[in-house]
Amino acid sequence: MKVWKTSLVVVLLGIWFSSALGADPRHEIHFPNLPGTQTLVCDFHMHTVFSDGQVWPTTRVDEAWRQGLDAISISDHIEYQPHRDDIPTKHNRPYDLALGHAHVHNLLLIKGTEITRDTPPGHFNAIFLKNVDPLDTPEFLDVIEEANKQGAFVFWNHQGWKGEEAGRWLPVHTTMFENKWLHGMEVCNGSTYYPSAHKWCLEKNLTMLGNSDIHVPDRREKSTSENHRTLTLVFVKEQTIDGVKEALQEGRTAVWFDDQIIGRQEILEPLFAASVRIEPPHVRTDRRIWFQIHNTCDADIHLERTGKLGPASLELPARTTILVKIDVKDPKSPLELPYRATNFLIAPEKGLPVVLKVPGVE
Ligand SMILES: [Zn+2]
Ligand SMILES: [Zn+2]
Repeated sequence: MKVWKTSLVVVLLGIWFSSALGADPRHEIHFPNLPGTQTLVCDFHMHTVFSDGQVWPTTRVDEAWRQGLDAISISDHIEYQPHRDDIPTKHNRPYDLALGHAHVHNLLLIKGTEITRDTPPGHFNAIFLKNVDPLDTPEFLDVIEEANKQGAFVFWNHQGWKGEEAGRWLPVHTTMFENKWLHGMEVCNGSTYYPSAHKWCLEKNLTMLGNSDIHVPDRREKSTSENHRTLTLVFVKEQTIDGVKEALQEGRTAVWFDDQIIGRQEILEPLFAASVRIEPPHVRTDRRIWFQIHNTCDADIHLERTGKLGPASLELPARTTILVKIDVKDPKSPLELPYRATNFLIAPEKGLPVVLKVPGVE
């Protein structure tokens, strides 16, 4: 009897401890790894009740986990704290509160903040900070210098946003750039794409970022091509905070915005190659071949023919296989079909040129 009671207690305790987390199921986001690097899905810009957001910091972790993210930064405003009568100003507290929760969810949490000034200069995120408090100081460039002293990665947020000087590159930005205090720009923020930021990232070799800047609870259960938050894909050599930092410093990113992937050609080329797989034709007649194309990533891919052979356009919905039929002169020869991936943007309004290689008969 005693033994029975003890085991009952043990069983009950087991149930108690093993169900304590009660997390929602996670829906992974699928983008392939590139040679030598692993692909992490990240969001480096979001708010909580510690500035003008509507949620507690741990909720940001729950959302990110559920939607398949790998790394986040909570970046509450330093200067704008409309809830301060209810939630006192404590710049490091959102990170401290979320850290343990992030740890058990296997999510990388990066300490960050949003430096929030009228335009110019505008809003900037500093991430990989050690201590946010010293950044709460009046002179804007002092703040940026302090962030850099702490080894932060600093990027310009929603560049085209608000005020008479909105979106202009001004002397203050040149000062930051020349001091190597500015390392990236949000090419996309929430539902907005900033073509100038995209262009400047290419011209000035700044890292491209896409972030949600969410303030409200994000109720999405999972991320799909049609419905996902704006995110940054980061191609890391190791899945650690330092690994994310190194990749950002080296510009190894792409932005997943709406149904577009935005990034440098040298990144999008291998990303496309790793996402799209073409099978050898399974049927060859005298004048025709049939073959399959797999899209293994979570973004739809739109292709437009730029050569003479093949369908004028091809739609590759996320994580599906399509069947292609082509009339050819010699069905045994390999084919090289030039196309443009119109939603893989290597510059504003410029899709990635690709070649679909169909194997021949050996
Ligand atoms: Zn902002
Ligand atoms: Zn913000």
